[in-house]
Amino acid sequence: MNRMMRSATWGACLAWAAVSGVSVVSAQAQTVKITSLGSVEGEFCVADRALIFEDPNGTRVLYDPGRTVAGAADSRLGTIDIVLVSHMHGDHVGNAHGKAPDSGSCDKPDLSVSAVPNTSAVNIALAKNSKIVTGSDMPAFFAAKLRANGGNPGNSILARFGGSVTLGGVRIATVPAIHSNGVDPDFIEGDLGKALKSAGLHGDAGLATGYVLRFSNGLVVYLSGDTGITAEQETVVRNYYQAKLVVMNIGDVFTTGPAEAAYVINDLVKPAAVIASHANEVGTVAGKLRPGSKTETFVKAVKVPVHIPLSGKTMEFDAAARCTAGC
Ligand SMILES: [Zn+2]
Repeated sequence: MNRMMRSATWGACLAWAAVSGVSVVSAQAQTVKITSLGSVEGEFCVADRALIFEDPNGTRVLYDPGRTVAGAADSRLGTIDIVLVSHMHGDHVGNAHGKAPDSGSCDKPDLSVSAVPNTSAVNIALAKNSKIVTGSDMPAFFAAKLRANGGNPGNSILARFGGSVTLGGVRIATVPAIHSNGVDPDFIEGDLGKALKSAGLHGDAGLATGYVLRFSNGLVVYLSGDTGITAEQETVVRNYYQAKLVVMNIGDVFTTGPAEAAYVINDLVKPAAVIASHANEVGTVAGKLRPGSKTETFVKAVKVPVHIPLSGKTMEFDAAARCTAGC
């Protein structure tokens, strides 16, 4: 190679680096949009769990539909490419919901529409032709429900601890949650469901889970699910996945309360920002933190910005978990 050829090759390399550098910068500047589908628009309420994540490439992910998404017909859903279910409890997978968005009050959501035996997650996935991505032993349950309702069982996809799947440009991994994960007999039809119910037992779907999502702009988000404090929050979520944004359950009794959740954030995961979730209380009044609430206690105890998921309000986060709009 003569000098001119070498310099031409080097020049091409520089040009490539400049172009790819520009594309990396612009990807990081793109934002993930996060919207709560709670029970009262503009508030953070007792039953609120459901969040929609929209990747910069348009992929839309619904996390834990719970009881505040008014079924598959809820006009707030739009396109749903992927449904995530952290565990099988009715307030996450969805065993009942309201007639329409905002049809109940903040402390008493409308639960007048039953979603058993299907689950809201399955009803939504059937209507939207979504993939359901779960860990543990949950995929077989969802595949069976899809098949039983004329859907495609292949739309139930496994991401078990330690592995991941990438769908629509979003990498999805599951991590352990210290919780329970019994399948309510109401979701199990026939004699088996009746026998379990009378014995006070639940079906087995393996361990409860949390998720770690990596969006196409590079933002890594940890969804705690219902969990206590776990060693994996430091060793796996922080050290390996390097989550920058956390959706943290703070409700106490069933999961970490505000003090334990603050420890998880400040000392174990150490993200750049956190979204409070699953407070099991009226967290806001007129869109402002309710004084004396668990949510307020959590906000005060955490050292990084805490964002409150007000229903219907869209927050945008860049790759570094800086909120660039809507917070
Ligand atoms: Zn639970």
